[in-house]
Amino acid sequence: MPNPFSVIRFQQVKLFCVLCMLTGMAMGCETVPYTDRSQLVVVPQSQAAEMGEQAFQQILSDPKVQQSQSAEEQEAVNRVADRIIQAAKESKFAEDAKAFQWEVTVIKDDQTTNAFALPGGKIAVYTGIFPVAKNDAGLAAILGHEVVHALARHGSERMSQEVLSQAGLSAAALGLGASGAGPVVGQATMAALGLGAKVGVLLPYSRTHESEADTIGILLAAKAGYDPQEAVRVWQRMQEGSQGTPSEFLSTHPSHETRITRLKEAMPEALEIYQKVQHAPDTPLPPVGG
Ligand SMILES: [Zn+2]
Repeated sequence: MPNPFSVIRFQQVKLFCVLCMLTGMAMGCETVPYTDRSQLVVVPQSQAAEMGEQAFQQILSDPKVQQSQSAEEQEAVNRVADRIIQAAKESKFAEDAKAFQWEVTVIKDDQTTNAFALPGGKIAVYTGIFPVAKNDAGLAAILGHEVVHALARHGSERMSQEVLSQAGLSAAALGLGASGAGPVVGQATMAALGLGAKVGVLLPYSRTHESEADTIGILLAAKAGYDPQEAVRVWQRMQEGSQGTPSEFLSTHPSHETRITRLKEAMPEALEIYQKVQHAPDTPLPPVGG
């Protein structure tokens, strides 16, 4: 099946951006903070946030999805997420980070190595990622990465590509289908938001998005008081743990050989930030499974 998201090519995006500038269109081209990359976003962040909220409710309403009842697990995720969110509010993403209605949930599933953050600020961490994250700094690396996908509008960008690749298809039609049980987020939107594994549509983030999430993610983790060097170890553990059962996280976050290299490139800036802030306590995450 051809990937519908690959239809709009970079050149077309660039052309669209030039047209935006010439015509002074209010919406269309945005610039990603930190990397200064031009991105095409025709789905406004407010609408993306609404879709993120609905996708989140959709996932949590699945009877197979159990929220963790362990105070220890929830506390561990909250203490890291709170610091990452605070760092985001003091970052170049401050405007969106302050507007987001942040909510953090822990899903009790020791077999699923995954975590996600959606536009609008809904975050979920599966307990199966604890052994890979290992400690607070490791979880901060993962959450920093995921939160950047949401704040840098990667989901909106992918939805926008879908909207433009299907002439006449409105953003609303893409995401919000009518249903007796209330709005249901469509497969394409779930995939664009990075939740494709839930609906069987595998849509890995592009190298550009992954690169931004990695490099800006460790800046957020460092700002939150966590050693950014743990990110390198997290990806190594992710790789090692994926032998045998494939990690859901790796299936939507393909491991590139360049990942470690680019993390190391971004490391001096992250370490400089880390050295200036008060360090967060280095706490191991609770053990999971049996
Ligand atoms: Zn990613």
